[in-house]
Amino acid sequence: MLSSATGKVALVTGGAAGIGAAYATRLAQDGFDIVIADLNDTAAAAAAVRAERRTALAVTCDVSSAESVAALGKTALEEMGRVDVLVNNAGVYPATAFLDMRWEEWQRVMNINVNALFHTVKAFLPGMVDRGWGRIINMSSTTFHSGIPFNTHYTASKGAVIGFTRSLAAEVGEHGITVNAIAPGLVRTATTSAGPQAQMFEVLAQQQAIKRTQEPSDLVGACSFLASADSAFITGRTLCVDGGWVRA
Ligand code: NAD
Repeated sequence: MLSSATGKVALVTGGAAGIGAAYATRLAQDGFDIVIADLNDTAAAAAAVRAERRTALAVTCDVSSAESVAALGKTALEEMGRVDVLVNNAGVYPATAFLDMRWEEWQRVMNINVNALFHTVKAFLPGMVDRGWGRIINMSSTTFHSGIPFNTHYTASKGAVIGFTRSLAAEVGEHGITVNAIAPGLVRTATTSAGPQAQMFEVLAQQQAIKRTQEPSDLVGACSFLASADSAFITGRTLCVDGGWVRA
C-alpha cells in the first residue's frame, strides 16, 4: 500500500487481460481505485481489483474511437470523480510480412496503438493539470529498439509512443505530471501464447541476460513505481523491462 495512492484513481486501458490485468491488480494493491477500459469482458479483472478491497469500474471502450473514449471519460469522471494515473496499455500486434500487409491493417494498428493516446490523454490530462499531479504511463515495446521482421506497423507504432511520451513530458512537467513509457520484451500472455510469437519464447529467452520467458508479473513493479510519488523526478523516459534483451 502506497500512501501517495490514497484517494487516487488509476485507469488502465486494455485492462481485461494480459499485462493490463496484471497492472490493474498491482495498482489496486498499491491503493488506487481502478477503472478498467477494454473492448472485451472485464469481469475477471474487475473481480481481481475488488479482491484487493478497492473500487473497480469496468467500462466497455474502443480506445481507437474518439466517441468511445469521450464516453469513457464522462463515465469515469462521473463515477470515480477523477483519474490521476492513466495507463495506455491497450494494443494489438498482428504479425504480417510487409509485402502482404494491407493498408487497413496498418491503419488499425496505428489507430489502437498510437492514435488512441490522443483520445485518452485529451480526456484525462485536463483534470491532472487542475489537480497539479498526474502520471501517464504508455506501453511501448523493445521491438522498437531492435527491429524485428513482420512487425513494421507495430514497431513504427511503438516508436511513435516513445516520441509522444518524450514530447508530452516536456509540456506537462510544470504541472506535476510525469509521462513515461515501459518497453517489455516478449511477454507470455494468452495472446502471444496463441500466436506466432509463441515459437519465439525459448529463442528470445536465450538472447536475454535473464534466460527465462517474461511474464506479466515481471512488469508490474515498473508500472507501480512510475505511478508512485517516488518517481516524481523521472519523466520522458522509456524503461526497458525485458530481462536484459536490449542492452543499449
Ligand atoms: P493482450 O492481447 O493480452 O491484451 C490486450 C488487451 O487490450 C485485451 O484485453 C484487448 O481486449 C484490449 N484491446 C485491444 N484492442 C482494444 C481497443 N481497441 N480498445 C480497448 N481495448 C482493446 O495484450 P498484452 O500482451 O497484454 O499487451 C499489452 C500491451 O503491451 C500492448 O500495448 C502491447 O503492444 C504491449 N506489449 C506486449 C508485449 C508482449 O509480448 N505481450 C511485448 C511488448 C509490448
